[in-house]
Amino acid sequence: MGGPAGDPVSVLWLTTGLGCDGDSIAMTAARNPSFEDLMRGCLPGAPPVIIYNPVFAYETGEDFMRAFWDAAVGRLDPFILVLEGSVPNEEISGDGYWATLGVDPSNGEPVSTCAWIDRLAPRAAAVLALGTCAAFGGIPAMRGNPTGAMGLGDYLGGRWRSRLDIPIVNLPGCPVQPDNITETLLALALRVARVAPPLDLDDQGRPRWLFARTVQQGCGRAGFAEQGEFAATPADHRGCLVKLGCKGPVTTCNVPIRSWIGGVGGCPNVGGICIACTMPGFPDKFMPFMEPSPLGLLNARFTRFSYGPVLRRLRHRAIALHYDREPPWRGPSSELHTGYEPRW
Ligand code: SF4
Ligand code: SF4
Repeated sequence: MGGPAGDPVSVLWLTTGLGCDGDSIAMTAARNPSFEDLMRGCLPGAPPVIIYNPVFAYETGEDFMRAFWDAAVGRLDPFILVLEGSVPNEEISGDGYWATLGVDPSNGEPVSTCAWIDRLAPRAAAVLALGTCAAFGGIPAMRGNPTGAMGLGDYLGGRWRSRLDIPIVNLPGCPVQPDNITETLLALALRVARVAPPLDLDDQGRPRWLFARTVQQGCGRAGFAEQGEFAATPADHRGCLVKLGCKGPVTTCNVPIRSWIGGVGGCPNVGGICIACTMPGFPDKFMPFMEPSPLGLLNARFTRFSYGPVLRRLRHRAIALHYDREPPWRGPSSELHTGYEPRW
């Protein structure tokens, strides 16, 4: 397992968790690296990545399913297993099933997503739970859902590790930021090819380098919050959005820094409140989305009625009187006023 760089690494991508295929679609917008660069293997040191995903595949039916059956019996190796969508609880599905992919030729029965996870996870070099649904349950796992949906870690167990001793990598987002997907797949492919160190994951299994900051810490409006300036409507170009319901102060996500596509967008940067779609408690713990959290309101009131306006005034004054002006020695003059002193 884990051939040298140059040997292809396969990605078996189950989109048949309970989800919407939004993460597959999002990945087509990746730029750094792009989906195409990843598959062509043209990134220095990286193996070519072969992606088996029903949303992108030209093949259909048994032609498409062949790689999955091969992997299930050890004829396709190494491979990364990707799950998109949450894991339904087939223990409670009665005589039916919640989610399936393909048909078992031995009995003509649909093969449930859970059965594929049971067959493929033990043989996978690494497992990626892609999207908040797969990582933590997400929208299908809301209170009152009928399917018993859960994240992959809840299904396989928190201590689960792959054959290469890699824990489940959770990459949340609804959908996941496109470059976060290709970058994490690249990191996993490099690890599987044994040309990169283990991924640095936090205690929720997320790549630490992508989820180390809160939305507010990377937000283009954070400076307004510090100065006690708050937007009254999403159309206000100035002001922090926390009073409109933005959950940025308590959410870890790099979208405000990385944007959505090619540097454009980034939720609060463009007037959209953060609804905390990357968080394990999403959506239940952040609803109703359009209402400010008590902590956010407290923070807003404190900065607005204490140091915020003082900071704002001092900064505006310093900019207007000092930093927004050229130094006095610039401009034509018969004498030099720069303070320059010859040393010879
Ligand atoms: Fe769709 Fe969001 Fe679930 Fe991904 S996490 S499958 S984008 S609902
Ligand atoms: Fe989701 Fe908030 Fe990140 Fe936007 S900024 S992607 S709403 S967590």
